[in-house]
Amino acid sequence: MAVVGVLALQGSYNEHMAALRRIGVRGVEVRKPEQLLGVDSLIIPGGESTTMAKLANYHNLFPALREFVGGGKPVWGTCAGLIFLANKAVGQKTGGQELVGGLDCTVHRNFFGSQLQSFETELSVPKLSEKEGGNDTCRGVFVRAPAILEAGPDVEILADCPVPADRPSITISFGEGTEEEVYSKDRVIVAVRQGNILATAFHPELTSDSRWHRFFLDMDKESQAKAFSALSLSSSSRDTEDLPKNKPLDLPIFE
Ligand code: GLN
Repeated sequence: MAVVGVLALQGSYNEHMAALRRIGVRGVEVRKPEQLLGVDSLIIPGGESTTMAKLANYHNLFPALREFVGGGKPVWGTCAGLIFLANKAVGQKTGGQELVGGLDCTVHRNFFGSQLQSFETELSVPKLSEKEGGNDTCRGVFVRAPAILEAGPDVEILADCPVPADRPSITISFGEGTEEEVYSKDRVIVAVRQGNILATAFHPELTSDSRWHRFFLDMDKESQAKAFSALSLSSSSRDTEDLPKNKPLDLPIFE
């Protein structure tokens, strides 16, 4: 069975562990770089991205996290986790914060405003329901949530939502003293996938809907199947002469 790591520095990692337990999957708390070697996939939870970045720095986790993401194993960032995975974040404290990167997008850290502007809404998620069944909507719990302002061509959009009318205007600073309102669209992206990276601006682990966790586990199965077929392709090109004719290869069963 796949072992799912959950970055357990700060934030809603317990809730992700519980959500994994509910669907019978083993979650492992990750706090040190070497623990990443023992997991097949990783969830970076929501919380407070600056605090999480400080703790990640303290534990020297950034190089190992970047290697993990770059190595192609599935990684899912929820909320602050999404900020961690973005290649670029705006709306940060002065001086910015370190990011893991890998996801070709620009996020705004507090797009929807302050903690007081946290909200819940139904999101249209046709791609999730196509894969995992159920309604074509899911409950989106947004807690001082970020949003994706721009996404690159390889990023698949899984959900967007209307920009609330009372959203405070956002500014981006370009060097000293220059600030500019940049977001004028009426919808904003809140869930994406780019290859091995899944990112949601909201918190599925705070609901009883386990489809996002299942969706992520399916990414894990896909990546293991790909790794296996690459392995069997390279060994078959080496060993085909030794194989008895017409004998089917034993294939592993992926849980
Ligand atoms: N906006 C928060 C941050 O900057 C993230 C909030 C969350 O993870 N619920 O870290």
